[in-house]
Amino acid sequence: MTFDDLGLSAPILKAIATQGYSEPSPIQAKAIPAVLEGHDVMAAAQTGTGKTAGFTLPILELLSKGRRAGPNQARTLILTPTRELAAQVGESVAVYGKHLNMTSTVVFGGVKINPQMQKLRRGVDILVATPGRLMDLHSQNAVKFDNLEVLVLDEADRMLDMGFIHDIKRIIGLLPKRRQNLMFSATFSEDIRKLAKGLVRNPIEISVSPRNAAAPSVEQWICPVDKKQKGPLLIKLIHDGGWGQALVFTKTKHGANKLTKLLEAAGITAAAIHGNKSQGARTRALADFKAGEIRLLVATDIAARGLDIEQLPQVVNFDLPNVSEDYVHRIGRTGRAGASGQAISLVSADEVDLLSDIERLTQKLLERREIEGFEPDQNLPVTTLNKPIRSKKPRKALNNETNSTDNSRHNNGATNAKKRTVYGHGPKPGGKLKSGGRNQTSRPGGRSEGSSEPRSDANGNRASRPASRSAAAPRSGAAPSKPSGNSPYGGGGGKPTSGRNRPSGGNSNRSSGRS
Ligand code: AMP
Repeated sequence: MTFDDLGLSAPILKAIATQGYSEPSPIQAKAIPAVLEGHDVMAAAQTGTGKTAGFTLPILELLSKGRRAGPNQARTLILTPTRELAAQVGESVAVYGKHLNMTSTVVFGGVKINPQMQKLRRGVDILVATPGRLMDLHSQNAVKFDNLEVLVLDEADRMLDMGFIHDIKRIIGLLPKRRQNLMFSATFSEDIRKLAKGLVRNPIEISVSPRNAAAPSVEQWICPVDKKQKGPLLIKLIHDGGWGQALVFTKTKHGANKLTKLLEAAGITAAAIHGNKSQGARTRALADFKAGEIRLLVATDIAARGLDIEQLPQVVNFDLPNVSEDYVHRIGRTGRAGASGQAISLVSADEVDLLSDIERLTQKLLERREIEGFEPDQNLPVTTLNKPIRSKKPRKALNNETNSTDNSRHNNGATNAKKRTVYGHGPKPGGKLKSGGRNQTSRPGGRSEGSSEPRSDANGNRASRPASRSAAAPRSGAAPSKPSGNSPYGGGGGKPTSGRNRPSGGNSNRSSGRS
């Protein structure tokens, strides 16, 4: 299948050609016709599948045929959980709509609201927004939804994880009843399905990659190592492996800062990206990383979510995530768009339960490779796919970025079949990164980081925000329809599965000629 077969017009096809896309990814092959036909869509798709173009291209096509938005009106609203994702989606809209006479803007918290109000004054065809700032703008009459034709919820699962459910419900309540709804989510938990129930009507359900499976082109392995040796080990891996750029995940903001300093002290350019950083600092770090000026980007889960960094060869889990599904999201940063990648996890004995959760979720025992000079004093216990080795109750929901506590209980037991990789010789380096998460206090009840908007930012007059909601609640739901392929760009597209009966044509505006 080519893009020409999908019913997109010449200006959009031209923009696609400029991007160098030769064929639609499976989600695009399914979502584009469904959206063009006016259906609601519910898609299980992660970042890296080409989902952004999957909804942006047909929306541009639909909007190009309709009437312009009135003052302060938006014809399409794309809601994203984080500022970074909003910025990226906004960029995609601009790129794909380059040859169309359309207007779009991006609004999110953490930056001045006035310029955003000005941009909205004349109305926009596409508005990309994070929920909190959108509510602020709406309360100040800067944005209205009478002309709204399409609503997109991007990364809906993460929006719920971040506690945006009330904002989302309020926003939905402000929209015209007659509209087209597109919902994208990496996973479909009970909560997501509940939200979907009140949102989409007879949706076309699309699922493009097996839930919780990594792209096959990603080589995954773990390095058993004592916690205090993780920093020096990472530096060794970078040097010995001659790494170019890598994205490193830490569990905590504090851990991200600390590791960044350690890397810089070792002469490796690095920047941290997390919720305590200003929007400017985050944008700068990402831009510097994309420009190749920074070798290592150290990120927490929420900050990194949805970052579109192409063809990253290395992803490192400096700490394993509390939520095993975040492991899949993390390693989705590599091996994207068919490129091969390597995902390495530095795992200390106290993380064995997290490791086991990940392995059972992905149904794959991760290969263990010890690095000479970094063999752990505290053995990483054996894990199996079938027998839970948990020695404690399921973890309580933890904030993704709270400081973790370190329970080094597992100090014996054989290790899984392991392969030793010798990257060099020399004495076991002394542990410089002493605490690395150890002895830190946890902050129960803390809100997941404000990657989208802080509770009140420099300009924010927001009085209320939903109470903290943890990101760690296990997401148990199944994807809406059967998986149909592994590689996002390598064929394997299945058919949309249901909901073909909805009358087409979202909003009547669409049929009117453009003035
Ligand atoms: P997304 O899943 O929307 O974050 O997209 C992931 C990456 O895939 C982005 O860098 C896109 O530019 C790229 N991409 C989107 N569609 C295609 C395609 N059909 N062929 C190749 N790359 C694509």
